[in-house]
Amino acid sequence: MQDVWNGAIAELRSKMPTTFDRWFSSVQFDGLTDGVLQLRAQNAFVRDFVTTHYIPVLKEKIRERTGFAVDVAWAIDAELPSPVSEKPADRQSVPPPPAPVVVERVSAPEPPMQAFTMPGGLNPKYLFANFVVGASNELAHAAALAAAGAGSVRRYNPLFICGGTGLGKTHLLHAIGHHVHAARPSARIVVVSAEAFTNEFIAAIAAKEMDAFRTRYRTQCDLLLMDDVHNLAGREQTQEEFFHTFNALHSADKQIVLTSDRYPHELERTTERLVSRFTWGLVADVQVPQLETRVAIVRKKAQLEQLEIDDDVAVLLAQAIRSNVRELEGALIRLAAQASILGRRIDVEFARSVLASTLPSRQQPVSVEDVVRAVCHHFNLRSSDLLGKDRHRSVAQARHVAIYLCRQRLKCSYPELGRHFGHRDHTSVMHAVKKVEALRATDADLRGHIDAIERKLGS
Ligand code: ADP
Ligand code: MG
Repeated sequence: MQDVWNGAIAELRSKMPTTFDRWFSSVQFDGLTDGVLQLRAQNAFVRDFVTTHYIPVLKEKIRERTGFAVDVAWAIDAELPSPVSEKPADRQSVPPPPAPVVVERVSAPEPPMQAFTMPGGLNPKYLFANFVVGASNELAHAAALAAAGAGSVRRYNPLFICGGTGLGKTHLLHAIGHHVHAARPSARIVVVSAEAFTNEFIAAIAAKEMDAFRTRYRTQCDLLLMDDVHNLAGREQTQEEFFHTFNALHSADKQIVLTSDRYPHELERTTERLVSRFTWGLVADVQVPQLETRVAIVRKKAQLEQLEIDDDVAVLLAQAIRSNVRELEGALIRLAAQASILGRRIDVEFARSVLASTLPSRQQPVSVEDVVRAVCHHFNLRSSDLLGKDRHRSVAQARHVAIYLCRQRLKCSYPELGRHFGHRDHTSVMHAVKKVEALRATDADLRGHIDAIERKLGS
């Protein structure tokens, strides 16, 4: 039965190599007896996603192999690896969402639900329909749909979307808002950046209008969409206020969606109690999209802007701009502007000449932080593990890979690398680089890891 499973899985994987492992690394096969396929998933979200997207095909593959139809029985096992990078320590001690915290309630009675026009502040272009889904953002997209009450997957509260700049976090956040508004026009949606929240809070204190402020955020809000929560860093009073806002909404079962340019445990100068709340629901990241996804994004944007571009042009752009969708979009718009001024068709030759004159000659190299983040994500580690002293084999190997990639891609000097990676001396860093260099040639597993990370880094 193990063979049946392995065979079916191998076939599925060959059809969708990139997205597959992401999900199935969190799924464990426990047996196939009496026509029941026993599976374990890391959490209900993974279970639901796999059930919706993979199980029908999988059942079919198993039927082809065994001649009988199977049912699936799921168990949940939090010990399995998670499909997203979470703080590993948290996972062992994942607290069940704690008992609702008692918060000061604003005494004003809830106003009657009123018809709500499209919530201001939502970018009209940031719709789910305009979002291109690929392996790099599939989880975040599915989770966003769930948070919006769409799709068959259960919703998580809060949903924390994180990842580098220009990778679609705000787009997804607003898409949730649009979707909820369309489905339930009476839902009170508050969309705010952490920056704006801070400013409003300060203004409310100054104007002695805290009651109104609290009513808006704690009572008159059915869906809170807060962008860029990393900007709360170091703002103690605002964090305190947001902590209570969060508690009030969460205990009233109002959906909260947050975005951030880093994982919760990487947030700086943010109180532990907020960080821990950010991980109560689901942490879903967006990565740098792969080439095919970038091409699809260019096509989508061209279509939305009603631009006629050749297919080759989409590929050319996607190859030239790798790490940031916003820049990719910018390049397309520039191209279109130039074409219209010059009255030219946007063909490959034209695109090449425009790109050559506007793009910096080389892609901006990624930073040490980017490499560390990608490696941590790939190996499911915390950056503090990678940068710390842990000599456990798996951590050490990941660290070596990170050092190697920094040396290769960023041309960091050995002493510089030593400083970045936990104040190691430069000989041990050099040793790590040599070791990975040598192993890369002989060790196919390691090569696979490095390739996967390089793809994340957008090469
Ligand atoms: P972030 O908030 O992560 O910095 P944004 O959500 O502002 O990034 O995205 C930057 C631009 O790239 C937006 O115009 C957005 O529409 C576009 N974009 C990013 N990812 C995608 C995607 N997968 N499909 C379509 N457009 C995307
Ligand atoms: Mg943003």
